[in-house]
Amino acid sequence: MKQQQTPTSEARAAGLTLRGIVKHFGPTRVLDGVDLDIRPGEFLTLVGPSGCGKSTLLRIIAGLEAQSAGSVTIGGRSVDALPPSERDVAMVFQSYALYPHMSVAANIASPLELRRLSLFERLPLLRWLSPRRPRVMREIMTEVRAMAGQLQLEGLLDRRPAQLSGGQRQRVALGRAMVRRPAAFLMDEPLSNLDAKLRVHMRTELAELHARLGATFVYVTHDQIEAMTMSDRVALMDKGRILQLGTPSELYDTPADVTVARFIGSPP
Ligand code: ADP
Ligand code: MG
Repeated sequence: MKQQQTPTSEARAAGLTLRGIVKHFGPTRVLDGVDLDIRPGEFLTLVGPSGCGKSTLLRIIAGLEAQSAGSVTIGGRSVDALPPSERDVAMVFQSYALYPHMSVAANIASPLELRRLSLFERLPLLRWLSPRRPRVMREIMTEVRAMAGQLQLEGLLDRRPAQLSGGQRQRVALGRAMVRRPAAFLMDEPLSNLDAKLRVHMRTELAELHARLGATFVYVTHDQIEAMTMSDRVALMDKGRILQLGTPSELYDTPADVTVARFIGSPP
């Protein structure tokens, strides 16, 4: 089970509140009224079988998908009318979603360039006209190098994603989320493309990263072991609903019903 640690850096952690989240895709109701309170700074895992609605719920929190009913509050602020870029969360996907033609450094820098440079300062043909661009880019690269140090990517900044291992690519994806300094990280099966050995190693890395950042982690997986080893609390989902919410030992020792017990593997 997870060790309690205190974050070393200055934490930016938001609590998240979901109330009555319903989602229809055509006639299918994939989320059936989800209520959930996620505490600031906790590592909360949504776990459940494939197709139960985990990714859809995460995408609704991020603003990548609109709910059919219900509300989302992040850091005490209703975000239902806000686009993804204004929700103070960063999403980390399973399929890395790195830019293949860009270096590791440019991949990690891209959210900062979007935020701090104007469109014309980013256009290849016009950007040399901006007197402030060299200074801003120097500041951005300082942050990128610091991030690369934290994630053990120092020697790899000039490589392309295709020249990296799966674990290194996953760390670049994390770096790209981290430079935005979000108050919550939303992770959709970030380890599912890795081989078994690396997956076990990355579990430890993610738990350490969580402790170091002090940010809220909302982690999605269909892997019970991942859920039980990394999380402060686990929300077990099935068919668009949360069946039980509790610490890993609460779910294991006192499963709410037989579906939870089977999924978690509690003794009968
Ligand atoms: P999970 O991440 O738990 O595997 P998802 O949230 O991806 O589940 O999907 C939940 C259900 O919603 C599934 O039955 C899936 O087929 C359906 N679904 C997801 N996205 C869409 C979409 N864009 N259009 C139609 N159905 C979808
Ligand atoms: Mg999914």
